[in-house]
Amino acid sequence: MKSRDRLSLTEKQKAEVKKRLEEKRAHKIEIILNEKSSHIKIHSWDDVRRIDRAIRRLDRGMYGRCIECRAYIEGERLKFMIEAERCASCHEHIESLERRH
Ligand SMILES: [Zn+2]
Repeated sequence: MKSRDRLSLTEKQKAEVKKRLEEKRAHKIEIILNEKSSHIKIHSWDDVRRIDRAIRRLDRGMYGRCIECRAYIEGERLKFMIEAERCASCHEHIESLERRH
């Protein structure tokens, strides 16, 4: 199901999303600095990079669009994962490909 709803963020909403992304980024950096487990560190670096990409997409007006199919990412999904870069169906598709390895 493709949503036709336009995700047009006001400047105020954009600033709010950016603030939340930056807070999440700072939190991940803190984990990297304090965590002993290298597995968690690597995982957190992946999160930081994903958050950085989301901030760049926000600056370019592409935030909230799927990087695979350009559809608008479901609002519920963005609420759960503010830095989400794929819509639910593309995400599932990629996950299923990874599971095959
Ligand atoms: Zn997609």
